Amino acid sequence: MKKIAIIGQPNVGKSSLFNRLLKKRDAITSEQAGTTRDVKRRIAQILDKQVELLDTGGLDKGCELFDKIKEKSLEAANKADIILYMVDGKTLPDENDKKLFYQLESLNKDVALVVNKIDNDSQKEKLWDYYEFGTDLIFGISVAHNRSINPLIEWIYDLLPDEDKIIEADETDEEEDEFEPSVYDYVPEDEESEEGYVDFDEEEVDDDSIFGMNDMIKEFDPEDLNHIKIAIIGRVNVGKSSLLNALLKEDRSVVSDVAGTTIDPIDESVDYQGKTLTFVDTAGIRRRGKIEGIERFALMRTEQMLESANMALVVLDASNPFIDLDEKIAGLVDKNFLACIIVLNKWDIADRENYDKIIQEVRDRFKFLHYAPIITISAKSHLRVNKLLDMIVEINENFSQRISTSELNEVLNRAMRRHQLPSMHGQIIRIYYATQYETRPPRIALIMNKPKGLHFTYRRYLTNKLREAFDFSGVPVLFKAKKRGGGK
Ligand code: GDP
Repeated sequence: MKKIAIIGQPNVGKSSLFNRLLKKRDAITSEQAGTTRDVKRRIAQILDKQVELLDTGGLDKGCELFDKIKEKSLEAANKADIILYMVDGKTLPDENDKKLFYQLESLNKDVALVVNKIDNDSQKEKLWDYYEFGTDLIFGISVAHNRSINPLIEWIYDLLPDEDKIIEADETDEEEDEFEPSVYDYVPEDEESEEGYVDFDEEEVDDDSIFGMNDMIKEFDPEDLNHIKIAIIGRVNVGKSSLLNALLKEDRSVVSDVAGTTIDPIDESVDYQGKTLTFVDTAGIRRRGKIEGIERFALMRTEQMLESANMALVVLDASNPFIDLDEKIAGLVDKNFLACIIVLNKWDIADRENYDKIIQEVRDRFKFLHYAPIITISAKSHLRVNKLLDMIVEINENFSQRISTSELNEVLNRAMRRHQLPSMHGQIIRIYYATQYETRPPRIALIMNKPKGLHFTYRRYLTNKLREAFDFSGVPVLFKAKKRGGGK
């Protein structure tokens, strides 16, 4: 039978939780002779499975020194399979707790951080301070007010083996797969319509990048953040080469090298507002004697460019009708999860009276780039070329931003309060919390009890709420639904 130890400093509520777990499940309270006098042992029942609870409630009695508590806690922890480390959510995270917690984690057992005394919704805020413990296994509960104890019980239950079942239970629905294919946050114009819903193939995410350390986002070298690699894409004659020339205009210093890196001779760079903007594979753009109409070639070359870029300028000719090839080329951007700006060139000769109509047409045709801002320019007259440069810098900021776990969860919780998560075939679906685990592009993990149960309409709703709360203009936002503790 598995053993659970509840560990923590005096007065955090260890005994209360102990009693709660016993009471809750009509415990079989056969007392067993403990090997250590201080440690009470009880057989408890968690749903239909049996478990032994090691109560360390008495551990801290008469222990003024933390070292002593620590020693005894480790003793108890060594005997246990599951460790509930309890802290008082009304106080600030304590260095001693952190150290002991890490030590317990190093024992290679199942360790959860239980933050007690989260008595009401406003107290929930406190919880985010505890994410600095670096674990995703955090349960904010209130034993006294009987709040949020079920997720903890469910977590424990999942760790108990089937052979510890007391009675045969009905077969429960097994989780098929801990990953849901990652779904890109496409938002159709028509809220009710599923059409155009983009479902990407499985995109591998290294578990450790989410669950090694909760807040350990893959950070980029500051040098990287100051270096924006841009692909100027579009079909022949939309004005890519003219735009490149305008962007590299004389009064900006054209650079041939970026500190620490050697720029490919086919790339051309310019310094702007302290950033280095590298336009990738410009040889192709500048090539004389353009080959028109060879679609496959255009697409292949575009794909290559996008691979080495983090931002795409999708150039369209505003003076002519858009064609299917425009769409196909633009469609390559979102596969690469790039930052993006839609550039409507030749505005000097476009039907400017019909601005609204043209913009609407772009939005209708390029739905998959709904997050990309649109700018009208003229590469020829240099109209708004400087504005485009500013926009590039601005969107690079959005692309590289890192939203703190607390801010993210404030928005998430507000959204969930407004609209509850729908259940799936009667099963309750929970999102425990969200955390951004990567930037460029921003990737957000939703930690859930059943990742499969997140309906795409709800995901879309959450994406919209995030876009309302944060500036993700020009940037794809990627969600990954993840099962709690699944990263182990
Ligand atoms: P690319 O094939 O996309 O590189 O297109 P180019 O830059 O070679 O431009 C194709 C043609 O469009 C050339 O004749 C350019 O002079 C013209 N062009 C490019 N940008 C503009 C613009 O903003 N306004 C006008 N009126 N013509 C443009």
